Amino acid sequence: MSALPQRLSLTSLDTIPALFDTHHRPLVEHLTGVAETLLAEASHDSARVAADMGARHGLYPYLVPEKHGGAAVNAPDAATHVDVRALVLIRDVLGYASPLADAIFAVQGLGSYPIVLAGTDAQRERYLPAVIRGERIAGFGLTEPEAGSDVASMRCEARPDGDGWVLEGDKHFISNVPIAHHHVVFAKVAGDEETLRRIGAPEDPRRRITAFVVESDTPGLEQQSQQLSIHHPIGALRFRGCRIPGDARVGAIGQGFKLAMQTLDTFRISVGAAANGMATAALDDAIAFVKGREQFGKPLSAQQMIQGYLADMATELDAARLLVARAAHQKDTTGGRASTEVAMAKMFATEAAQRIVDKAVQLHGGRGVLTETRVENLYRDIRPLRIYEGTTEIQRIIIARALLEDR
Ligand SMILES: Cc1cc2nc3c(=O)[nH]c(=O)nc-3n(C[C@H](O)[C@H](O)[C@H](O)COP(=O)(O)OP(=O)(O)OC[C@H]3O[C@@H](n4cnc5c(N)ncnc54)[C@H](O)[C@@H]3O)c2cc1C
Repeated sequence: MSALPQRLSLTSLDTIPALFDTHHRPLVEHLTGVAETLLAEASHDSARVAADMGARHGLYPYLVPEKHGGAAVNAPDAATHVDVRALVLIRDVLGYASPLADAIFAVQGLGSYPIVLAGTDAQRERYLPAVIRGERIAGFGLTEPEAGSDVASMRCEARPDGDGWVLEGDKHFISNVPIAHHHVVFAKVAGDEETLRRIGAPEDPRRRITAFVVESDTPGLEQQSQQLSIHHPIGALRFRGCRIPGDARVGAIGQGFKLAMQTLDTFRISVGAAANGMATAALDDAIAFVKGREQFGKPLSAQQMIQGYLADMATELDAARLLVARAAHQKDTTGGRASTEVAMAKMFATEAAQRIVDKAVQLHGGRGVLTETRVENLYRDIRPLRIYEGTTEIQRIIIARALLEDR
């Protein structure tokens, strides 16, 4: 593993200054130090240690707007928008230095942003300062065994019960499960016709998705870990007669689908940034390896076919970074309307990173599949990024829909 993040210079404002702001410069300088510390100290298998990293290095404040005590500035709407360009700078570095810390950081944001967007003052006061300090770790419970890409088909239900709600149903693939203190959970309000009319639930059941914030230790909520091929805390949420108070609802009844989509649309760009960080690490290691490895009487780096690989990897990586920076700039400066650019950035960066990491493995020869080699770890770490927060296929649907509507 290289000691210094040499190609992290690509994340600096020197490459694409027009798309960033002056206040991002000190963040980039801070992140260079963070990367060096993480490379030296980060635990690559302890989720709790990795979660502490986000707090120790002052990264969680960037998940919350300045108005609510966070560090996210420069947004058109200071109350609700986070600084997406700061997020992409952070996740690029975390993806490079610690994919585990990166995953936890991202979900800390997903599980907080619905509260930023639609929480009551009391919810914001209860959750956001603790999230910023890393005293609370958040989860985002959207996916279900029968409802993945088709979010609206979810079955999880919330029934009004006295002054509260009772949750029934199952979620799975919920990141941060073993370490999260609370989850923002999406469920459809349900009940008899009269109750639904009384609470003002929309007639169409698919429009009844509503968000709730649920403490992990609530009776009736069981959490079960799921094992992935990478170090990534994840698991299932099982709600059986799980009673939560009335003030656990986040936003209006029926606003949940929109809240989930707004949250994903904001954080999805940063998945592309994390992919760029991982691809940079792979390229770094590939360059170091081919310079040091001799075959046929000269370093591999002297072979033109090997040089061609490196050139392709670097070009794809720069293209991905530019797309991510463009989407983040657009998100920050246009009041958030950038779904097509976001989808392009997420899709291209994650797919390109997969190709780059694969080439890095190939360039390492047999050593590329040894478990102690960083590129082998990256080969597994990069894979879920093409799936979570909207698969590549879903991004293609978003892009194509916009194209067809435009013409
Ligand atoms: C590491 C990891 C972390 C995750 N963390 C979270 C989390 O914290 N919270 C959470 O709620 N979820 C989380 N997820 C779940 C993730 O968001 C879903 O896996 C993803 O949305 C896809 O859903 P699915 O797995 O049910 O696949 P499906 O939706 O069943 O899709 C299977 C395949 O079919 C394709 N497909 C589906 N519909 C179409 C279509 N209309 N056209 C073409 N192709 C289509 C998909 O792209 C995919 O390739 C996580 C997943 C992973 C792997």
